[in-house]
Amino acid sequence: MHQVILGRTGLRISPLVFGTLPLGPLQANLSPAEGGRLIRHALERGVTMLDTAELYGSYPHVREALAGYAGPVVIASKTHANTAEIARAHVERALRELGRERVDIIHLHGARVRDPFTERAEVLEELLRMKAEGKIGHVGLSSHYIAAIRAAADHPEIEVVHPLINRIGMGILDGTAEEMADAIAACARTGTGVYAMKALAGGNLIAEARQSFAYVLGLAGVHGIAIGMLSEGEIDANVALFSGIAPEPAVWEELEQKRRRLRIMEAFCKGCGVCIDACTNHALSVVDGTARVDEEACILCGYCGAACPEFIIRVV
Ligand code: SF4
Ligand code: SF4
Repeated sequence: MHQVILGRTGLRISPLVFGTLPLGPLQANLSPAEGGRLIRHALERGVTMLDTAELYGSYPHVREALAGYAGPVVIASKTHANTAEIARAHVERALRELGRERVDIIHLHGARVRDPFTERAEVLEELLRMKAEGKIGHVGLSSHYIAAIRAAADHPEIEVVHPLINRIGMGILDGTAEEMADAIAACARTGTGVYAMKALAGGNLIAEARQSFAYVLGLAGVHGIAIGMLSEGEIDANVALFSGIAPEPAVWEELEQKRRRLRIMEAFCKGCGVCIDACTNHALSVVDGTARVDEEACILCGYCGAACPEFIIRVV
């Protein structure tokens, strides 16, 4: 697969970025061996960037995939910490569990933070300190907020952004897809690297996957898209698509019929409502003492699953 330069980081990446969230306990809950085999399959076909996070629980899968692998790879992870101390602990854990001396990119994981530069200022300072110590290659920002991505364009210390965008704007918390595209373009003008998330709106655009990827890849300034992949067939189809090889219609038609959904094991729900606060898309409610999801509003981000004290929410 061809490689592109991720803005002023100078990193060479494949435009198809392996999103590891679905491999971990919040979603498919594959074993590290199973998940590692899928990641390795992608690496051997030219994928050179992996996206993970403290929250995803997929460090063991990434480590397994990289055991004995000598090819190029860029790893991006994220910390959702609120304090400098926790941010440092998250980065140290990433280094330890990934078995590396440096993580190429650490994002301030700011999905639900409108103004990370004031609300998480101490976290950003700590990440920059760890960059100076050589533990982080580049500091980035991941966000569902247009305002945060727009602000990143004015912050030269943010070298990469990971914005949520898809052609229907689903999951963007403060505006439209067009407005997010403008914010991305502003970042690109300053040389910021950009790789997008949720191009399929968490599976809601799966029936039009090819057009949806083309929309995001066609936006000014977008270098790549993180895509969660759960089978070798899905990896091969995406590698072909991103390599400009005419897609196999039958393979794509099958993939585009797959639908994932949020599963709440209602029998074990305590009705506490913690998950409701975790959902920025207002897709959850408690009805008659049990959590319910509005599938029209859910982007399958998995944050509610991470928040639920009973561990009874999964994307399946
Ligand atoms: S219901 Fe859960 S998975 Fe769906 S958008 Fe809300 S937090 Fe994300
Ligand atoms: S956080 Fe878990 S236990 Fe609490 S209401 Fe939501 S699904 Fe039920």
